[in-house]
Amino acid sequence: VIQVQDVHKSFGDLHVLKGCDLTVRAGEVAVLVGPSGSGKSTLLRCINQLEEPSAGRVLIEGVVQGYRSDPLPDGRWQKLSNAEIAAQRSRIGMVFQRFHLFPHLTALGNVMEAPVQVRGLPKAAAEKKARELLDRVGLGDRADHYPSELSGGQQQRVAIARALAMDPELMLFDEPTSALDPELVSEVLTVLKDLAADGMTMVVVTHEMGFAREVADHVVFMDDGAIVEEGTPEQVIDHPRSERLKGFLASVL
Ligand code: ATP
Ligand code: MG
Repeated sequence: VIQVQDVHKSFGDLHVLKGCDLTVRAGEVAVLVGPSGSGKSTLLRCINQLEEPSAGRVLIEGVVQGYRSDPLPDGRWQKLSNAEIAAQRSRIGMVFQRFHLFPHLTALGNVMEAPVQVRGLPKAAAEKKARELLDRVGLGDRADHYPSELSGGQQQRVAIARALAMDPELMLFDEPTSALDPELVSEVLTVLKDLAADGMTMVVVTHEMGFAREVADHVVFMDDGAIVEEGTPEQVIDHPRSERLKGFLASVL
């Protein structure tokens, strides 16, 4: 589903991604780990075009993101308009460390917002679907609560339901549990595990090695803007080869 091909990203003089290649197949869960500042968030943001790669490309379902599928006669690739990029992005769900819920909308309102406003789904249909999704993340009885009335773990589960409401082809999670109190982490990880079991294609940045071991098909270790090692959880977590990965694992396990 996802192919990242030799993606570079610079911010001014700062070369953050130094040629990343990554493939995630349909239904796979890739867990991305690495030290702070190694470029994990930037790579996720390049996958869904919140950042434009400085070089290289990202394909989703074989479609180059951000560009027209056919080059101009002179061979140049033509960028899509912002609206077209937004349409591509709407097929990718993203969940951040901070939940970014709309504070003036209830849990139900948050989940209904994009299908109604962006897709033009009738309100009744959107509400039915939103209630199903809130049930799915274990919040069927919290639909009418405002974010300020929910715990961090509950808010994060609303954020996941909200992303799912757009029927994404894949989901990106950027440290979805690292802002939560320890006792709330597992309720969010359980939702991620259920999603994985349902066959959702996911890329998850997390330092939860237990989750990686249990759920990941594929663990990717990034350091200093490059993918240094990748493989099964067994290979990467239990049999690290590079000193950098050994050092990193010692710091998080
Ligand atoms: P963390 O684990 O702390 O979230 P990360 O691996 O997600 O780290 P990134 O957020 O991708 O790392 O950042 C990688 C580097 O890029 C950092 O040095 C950061 O300061 C820099 N960076 C990220 N976004 C920008 C930006 N918009 N402008 C300038 N520099 C940026
Ligand atoms: Mg980050």
